[in-house]
Amino acid sequence: MESPVNAVAIEKVVAGDVRAAVFAALEAVQADRLMVRKGMIVLLKPNVLMAKPPDQAATTHPAVVRAVIHWVKQFEPSKIFVADSSNGISPGNTRRALKASGIQAVCDEERVVATGFEETPRRVYKVPGPLILKEVLSSSLLGEADLVINLPKIKTHGQCTLTCAIKNMFGTVIIGNKSKIHARFPTQGQFSSALADIYSAFRPQLTVVDGTLCQEGKGPASGDVVKLDLILAGRDPVALDTTVCAIIGLDPEKVAHLRMAREKGLGTMDLSRVRFPARQVGEVRRPFKIPRTAMVPFRVPQSVTDYLSGEIFRATVSFRKDKCVRCGTCWQNCPTQAITPPLQSQEGHTPAWIKSKCIACYCCAETCPHDAVNFRINIPGNLFTTWIGPSAVLLLGLLAWLIARLVMG
Ligand code: SF4
Ligand code: SF4
Repeated sequence: MESPVNAVAIEKVVAGDVRAAVFAALEAVQADRLMVRKGMIVLLKPNVLMAKPPDQAATTHPAVVRAVIHWVKQFEPSKIFVADSSNGISPGNTRRALKASGIQAVCDEERVVATGFEETPRRVYKVPGPLILKEVLSSSLLGEADLVINLPKIKTHGQCTLTCAIKNMFGTVIIGNKSKIHARFPTQGQFSSALADIYSAFRPQLTVVDGTLCQEGKGPASGDVVKLDLILAGRDPVALDTTVCAIIGLDPEKVAHLRMAREKGLGTMDLSRVRFPARQVGEVRRPFKIPRTAMVPFRVPQSVTDYLSGEIFRATVSFRKDKCVRCGTCWQNCPTQAITPPLQSQEGHTPAWIKSKCIACYCCAETCPHDAVNFRINIPGNLFTTWIGPSAVLLLGLLAWLIARLVMG
């Protein structure tokens, strides 16, 4: 029999029947082989990024969570947990997001436990073969579960270009500690290595990708919604994310955390080695608007990418006067204190951004509840301030010195 390990099932949601698509995808990758006995403890890890309703596609759709719960229940588990840690720093954020996303209601109806990881006991997990991060502080639930099922959502991402299977496990980091990881690993290469390390600390045995309603463009919080109507399932997260890249028209080699995950041996980016037992990529391809903020548009070594994305492709953050209500979420969540409150509280005054402190982590855009944060890349401007300006000042200084020498004899 062919191995289910390198299989990626792509199923289309037909006539809104998410359950049928989830069941078909799981059958195609022989996921039942993972349910080895009755009485297992199963942990589902959806994307519960922030308090937004399902139609805004920021969080895993509750219909996908419900379908996976139904599938797991067939095998008579002793307990099913649905857990995540949302963005931001305020305790209670995940609970609010669980409610707004519709996941809490599904869990209540299905009589399974929905919780924020921050509401559970903590445990430190060692990272095997760390690239940059040796340990992760997370919930004891992850260690107690017999089976962890990752339930990511397909979204483009301003900082990481794509969020799906690998990036979703960043949500295992307890609220408040995510910003510390951003601050500790400010470059794209460092943060991407940390993402691969965090994934490897938990390594979910199974992934079901929510590709029903997705986000393109300004994801992961306020992108444009795309009704893709797909469910993907598999055991290899790198193959799954690479397949998603192929579907949405994104070069997977430009997704740094995917390369890091491959480097760690978490899976393959070579789709010729992946079996597609359901639909083929070509049948469901739908190019997405890819955010330019994080991506150097050519393949270069990571160190060069880090330099260029920190200088020439560096994003400028601004705040929309028509949307900002001066709620403070962005400056409270900025890991490097690159945002300060507006000097005046009246309408029309927005927070201030300190370019020299910004690490382009996207936390402000992800946490702003009013979609008031804009990212823009001004390449000519960056070129001037980084290279042309200082060179011109140097040349002018040299010229002035030469002229002075000539005049003074
Ligand atoms: S930009 Fe958003 S998060 Fe920041 S103060 Fe304005 S509304 Fe609040
Ligand atoms: S200003 Fe925004 S993008 Fe820059 S470091 Fe702060 S939160 Fe991150």
